[in-house]
Amino acid sequence: MEFSTRAIHVGQHPEPVTGATIPPLFLSTTFTQSAPGEHKGFEYSRSRNPTRDALEACLASLEEGEACAAFSSGLAASAAVLQSLHPGDGVVGGHDLYGGSYRLLEQVFRPWGLQVAYAAGTSPEAYAKALESLARPRLVWVETPTNPLLDIVDIQRVAAIAHALGCLVVVDNTFATPYLQQPLKLGADLVVHSTTKYLSGHSDVVGGAVVAREAKHLEKVRFLQNATGAVPGAMDCYLVQRGLKTLGIRMEKHCANAQSIAAELLTWKPIREVIYPGMGGHRGHAIARRQMRAFGGMLTVRLDGGELAAKRFCSRLRLIACAESLGGVESLCSHPATMTHASIPPDVRESHGITGDLIRLSVGIEDIADIQADLAQALRVSQQ
Ligand SMILES: *Cc1c(COP(=O)(O)O)cnc(C)c1O
Repeated sequence: MEFSTRAIHVGQHPEPVTGATIPPLFLSTTFTQSAPGEHKGFEYSRSRNPTRDALEACLASLEEGEACAAFSSGLAASAAVLQSLHPGDGVVGGHDLYGGSYRLLEQVFRPWGLQVAYAAGTSPEAYAKALESLARPRLVWVETPTNPLLDIVDIQRVAAIAHALGCLVVVDNTFATPYLQQPLKLGADLVVHSTTKYLSGHSDVVGGAVVAREAKHLEKVRFLQNATGAVPGAMDCYLVQRGLKTLGIRMEKHCANAQSIAAELLTWKPIREVIYPGMGGHRGHAIARRQMRAFGGMLTVRLDGGELAAKRFCSRLRLIACAESLGGVESLCSHPATMTHASIPPDVRESHGITGDLIRLSVGIEDIADIQADLAQALRVSQQ
């Protein structure tokens, strides 16, 4: 079956008692046993829940992996992957990781005993060099496209380097979604998601997931899901599942809107730079063409007038909300230097290119003329 058919049908069998086409929401925390130890596979909802089962089956199918474990947030999913290593093991992180993933590595897992190194750039050679600096390399953590600079990492080449050293490769596929990019088919071993973003798609649920190419690579994560207990509630699983059904069609529109706004913004004078992987001039464009179906709904620009103009721009938007997060049907705008990336020391931030004039847009699926009109009026005000 093709992608959107699986998104709509996998795990969604009619309910046997009433025939309800949409499976019910199983809120029950416990399941009645006919005799001690005799049950239908469900005992207690932290261990296993039918609504969560349905979501996990669907996500595994969309990423074309053998198994999935759902979590209460993207960071809970990431933490379970890192906790499945042993103190003393080495992890290589990408150079422009999501701030929360960076904090997890630096402030939780480095003190816990993991050795952590970062690739100094997006090239496979940068990953190789970081791997060489570790005594016991075990895991490579890739994000592509990155946030907020939308750099592209060649998953296939990084996976080949990591596998030669016996390391597993994890790709945070939150920005691309399995509709645009399937890391497990490119050689990654695990995919992590913040389902909070495009997968649920309506900015009304926080969730996460880990999908494994081979079920054996999920065993420890599955154990930790139950043993440490960061499981999503049934209602949250239901909402993510409902979002998945329209993922394909939403991503088509996110990509089309972002692509035409990128082209339009290029012609607007106060915009100094437009960063979008779908444009020929983007430094990762050739790799993105190979490993992605289209180029996503995220778009970053640099504005004339520095931080002052950028902040004025964000404050003057009317339709587009100035807010953190991304991937919802509504367009959002953020100022990374003072919002998502404010916790990174200013010198580190600037050396990464996250300067005060930078604005990140999560382009929604509203009608393009309305998005453009809002951007145009805010841009005019920002330059006054
Ligand atoms: C939001 C996000 C996360 C963290 O997910 P939460 O659901 O907020 O815990 C991880 N990676 C990326 C790329 C994200 O955008």
